[in-house]
Order: sequence, then structure tokens, then C-alpha cells
Amino acid sequence: MNKGIFIAFEGIDGSGKSTQIQLLTEKINEKGIRCYQTCEPSGGPIGSLTRQILTGRIKTDNRVIAAMFAADRLDHLLNEVDGIVAKVEDGITVITDRYYFSSYAYHSVDVPMDWVIKTNEESAKVLRPDMTIFIDIDADTAMERITKNRFHTELFEKKSRLEKVRNNYLKAFDLLKGEEKVVIVDGTKSMEEISEEIWMQVKHLFEK
Ligand code: ADP
Repeated sequence: MNKGIFIAFEGIDGSGKSTQIQLLTEKINEKGIRCYQTCEPSGGPIGSLTRQILTGRIKTDNRVIAAMFAADRLDHLLNEVDGIVAKVEDGITVITDRYYFSSYAYHSVDVPMDWVIKTNEESAKVLRPDMTIFIDIDADTAMERITKNRFHTELFEKKSRLEKVRNNYLKAFDLLKGEEKVVIVDGTKSMEEISEEIWMQVKHLFEK
């Protein structure tokens, strides 16, 4: 049996990841291909603790936060209940809302990027995405969308931080351009235009 395709969506908060993941899943399902959506932090026990850190309820050092995300990522890949690796082996296409590039972009605001990349080396070894799709929007547009539609502002959703995060994404893509397949789409276009562009980029993965 052919393995499933693994696609990671990346972008700053409010870039439109959830919207595009939904639209892509519909297109894949229409083709009769089994598709599983997931997100980070995971729904597992390490993910749950990580979410509490994200909301600021639990306070700890930034290096600990980065390590928690790395641990949750590995658990998300390898756990016996609903691990991504087993699904991909089983021929299921998996789409994740965030993967290790989110760590490179967000945690490198506070700790050196090379350390974050090294901390996630095992995840990259276990399962590298067939494609990473980065939905690129500027921090101003992101802030407009976030404040219009959300009632709470999480720790990471501050404009100056989002600017740094976006720059870190671009820096990480450049650093890892030899190893990773990354597609950058313009997230300021309409939802339909972005969805069409993403489909043009990924459809060949399903034609093998
Ligand atoms: P993310 O998952 O990256 O945080 P969402 O998909 O939740 O982003 O989108 C954030 C907000 O922006 C939502 O209210 C969504 O409806 C809106 N949105 C998403 N894509 C676009 C787009 N291309 N143009 C305008 N608004 C958008």
C-alpha cells in the first residue's frame, strides 16, 4: 500500500491556516482519499500541558517551553492511540495545523534558532512533511483579523511579536531550503484564490 501524504500548514496567527486546511481537506475528500486533520499542540497529555503554558496559566523558562513543544511533537507523531506516523503508514493523508517550523519561528524570538532546530531534529528524522505550506501575511493584517474575530489575546498574538515570528519563518525557510519542501502563498488574497493556488501546488502529490 502507498503511504499517505503529510502536509504541514504554517503561518502567523490569523494567517488563514484553519480556513485553508478545511478547504484542502474537502478537495482531498472529493477525490476519495482518506484525510485526517490535526493540529499542534496535540490533544494528548503533553499537548494539554503545553496549551496551559501557551495561555500563560503555567509559567516557565522559554527553553522549557520550546522543549515541551518538541516533546509534544514527537508524541503526536509516535503515540500508539492516534499517532501521525501510523496513519501515514496506513495510507492516510495527514494535514497538520503547525509543525516544527512553528517552533523555529515562535521560539526563536526568545532562544537561538539553531538550538530550536536541533531540539526538533528527531521529528524531522521521523517524519518530514511532503510539503510545508506557508500562508504569508503581514502582522498588521493578522492583527486586524485577530482582533475582529477573537475576544481574547493569547500570549503569542502581539503585533511586534508576530513581525518577529514572520521574519523567523522566512529565515528558517532560507536556512533549511536544501532539506525542506516549502511553498509560500500570499495570504492577503481571497480565500478562494489561496485555496486554488494551494491545490495547484499539492495536487501532484496525489498523482503518484
Ligand atoms: P489561523 O488558523 O491561521 O489562525 P484562520 O483560518 O482562523 O487563521 O483565519 C483567521 C480569520 O481570518 C478568520 O476569521 C477567517 O475567516 C479570516 N480569513 C481567513 N482567510 C482569509 C482571507 N484570505 N481573507 C480574509 N480573511 C480571511
